[in-house]
Amino acid sequence: MTDNPNLPGGAVLPADACERGALASFIAMFAWPALIVSSGAILAIGFTRGHPAIYFNLSYAWIVLWLFVLEKHLPYRSDWRRNDGQIGADLGHTLLNKGLVQITIIQLMSLEFFANRGSGVIGALPLWQQIIIGLVATEFGLYWAHRLGHEWPLLWRFHAVHHSVKRLWIVNTGRFHFIDSNLSVLASVPFLLATGISMDAIIWVSAITAYVGVLTHCNVAMRCGWLNYLFNTPNLHRWHHSTSPVEGNTNYGQNLLVWDQLFGTWLYKREAGPGFIGIHDRMPRRLLGQLLMPFRWKRYQAAPADSALDL
Ligand SMILES: [Zn+2]
Ligand SMILES: [Zn+2]
Repeated sequence: MTDNPNLPGGAVLPADACERGALASFIAMFAWPALIVSSGAILAIGFTRGHPAIYFNLSYAWIVLWLFVLEKHLPYRSDWRRNDGQIGADLGHTLLNKGLVQITIIQLMSLEFFANRGSGVIGALPLWQQIIIGLVATEFGLYWAHRLGHEWPLLWRFHAVHHSVKRLWIVNTGRFHFIDSNLSVLASVPFLLATGISMDAIIWVSAITAYVGVLTHCNVAMRCGWLNYLFNTPNLHRWHHSTSPVEGNTNYGQNLLVWDQLFGTWLYKREAGPGFIGIHDRMPRRLLGQLLMPFRWKRYQAAPADSALDL
């Protein structure tokens, strides 16, 4: 264990993975790429068997199961494994998002304007090139939706729900106010569809977004090295959750960091991570209160801690 005076309450950071033995060091270096590649391999099998949707679910479950195992045996912060009283709210937001975001995506996909998927010049390119084009184009919308969520006070009221947690682990990955996540979809899916990539490429882009996304919050001692320059890794996303605006208003990319690199918001420090995770604003403890929060933001922020507004 390594004392870190920056951590709240004198908390202690787990020893760096390299100090925990050869196996821990090996896992820390290769877990992220191994989980992405192995999940992609499961999805590829699904395509050859004509059932990409079923195999996508299997590949997603594969990552989630491994992350639960790794969070137990190789945590980034062991004090983040304690119950924070937010598991119910985290899961409630996740389920609400899954349902409503699916409806929004289906509505967008059915628009006539995007009907000629894969029939143009871009759709004739090799699949891997279409996937890269799809990822970069989608990321442009995701980047600006996320950045505005931090820089525009009205949108921050919604995005603050995601940032109000004081630790990161797999269970709060999907903790977004459903209006926040739907705005991200509305800002990004049109860019994805406008590229004219094929339906197979769209499935791959969606799958990669899901794989990278579920890894960002994991409480696992990963060392992603050079991958931090290209992809949104747990190393980078922890800085994004820092209470310090200088550290937190960075790394907006959801999959790729290409737009952060271009617009100067990419942040990577080789130290383990920020000392404090969370926000300075107040946030209700319960799901309903968090959902209503953006609509009575000023009243709630000004109210005493035990007021009736604290649903
Ligand atoms: Zn954010
Ligand atoms: Zn996050």
